Amino acid sequence: MKNVFEEIVKGKIPCDKVFENERILAFRDIAPQAPVHILIIPKKTIKNIEEMTEQDIPLLGEMLFVAKQIAEKEGVSEGFRLITNTGPDSGQLVPHLHFHLMGGRRLGSLG
Ligand code: 5GP
Repeated sequence: MKNVFEEIVKGKIPCDKVFENERILAFRDIAPQAPVHILIIPKKTIKNIEEMTEQDIPLLGEMLFVAKQIAEKEGVSEGFRLITNTGPDSGQLVPHLHFHLMGGRRLGSLG
């Protein structure tokens, strides 16, 4: 699996950025599955939740708070979904932790 998100963090691949601070970057998904489809990633390379350590707890909490703020800014705070795929069985394609923030339409059931 190629880590394109690392290239995005380094600025080598452009992105449609919606949020950035020292630790976190959020940008629009290149192939959106909903009117709002934003990826929230840590700048630090963590492959997925399986590779998260205790040290990463504050970072993950901050990512969730950033998601809430983006949902408000994008006008979807009345209903949105946060998904993070972990490993091959989940369909994870990019080996860099990311939350998909999706909203702006009635979302179907998970499965
Ligand atoms: P995963 O299946 O790993 O959870 O999701 C990876 C997501 O990254 C997919 O929704 C895909 O459309 C998105 N993606 C892959 N490459 C790029 C890219 O270069 N730029 C952006 N903005 N999104 C990407």
